[in-house]
Amino acid sequence: MVKRMSKPSSSNIQGSERVLVVEDEPDIAALIAYQLTREGYRVETATTGTEALNALSREAPDLVVLDRMLPGLSGDEVLAALKGEAATRTIPVLVLTAKREQEDRIEGFELGADDYLTKPFSPRELVLRVKAILRRIQEPAVESGGRILRAGPVSLDVNSHQALLDGDELNLTPTEFRLLRSLMERKGRTQSRQQLLERAWSVESHISDRIQTRTVDMHVRRLRAKLGEVGEWIETIRGFGYRLRIPEDDT
Ligand code: CA
Repeated sequence: MVKRMSKPSSSNIQGSERVLVVEDEPDIAALIAYQLTREGYRVETATTGTEALNALSREAPDLVVLDRMLPGLSGDEVLAALKGEAATRTIPVLVLTAKREQEDRIEGFELGADDYLTKPFSPRELVLRVKAILRRIQEPAVESGGRILRAGPVSLDVNSHQALLDGDELNLTPTEFRLLRSLMERKGRTQSRQQLLERAWSVESHISDRIQTRTVDMHVRRLRAKLGEVGEWIETIRGFGYRLRIPEDDT
């Protein structure tokens, strides 16, 4: 893969965020680019997965809008590559799919997509989703002022989004990080799935309750697995939600 030097960029123009749009259908790509540009985002488009990976290696965008059905490298493969690289792992991804099946939506979350939009979608909704994702990425640093959260052997740096377990870096997706953070900030307190969704996903009401519930459960399951023994500290409160209970509170 040829790396090009990024140009002395216009990237610091008062916070205008970069969005990489990966979409092989020209009309849809143009529509998305138009809408996002109008909202003040700087948009780069790629029409294949390979092009997308090249663009990612040049300059990390603030967010990726990724079509799932691409010729050659699929959207899922691009997502896996992006989440597998330390340099691009924390970039949020909004996945577009033509498939309607709920299982596909769940699969997308499994792969680390931050949100999902089914085609056909309204351009307005796409803009709202993009804004919601970027907003919740930015919130943490502001509200916690650089705190480090600790629970036993786990520590979270809310500014750098680094998570450590016994001093070793935990490979968490942005959503898993926010979920763990929400649990750690409210140690010992039970949070409903709805509260966790609001805190870790900023989910809007158009996603069905059933999807929301399963999404939270699935992420908790993955988080527990990554935390090893500490994962057992995340207690299921049946029919309600979750809480982080620390055996001997040594914080
Ligand atoms: Ca496509």
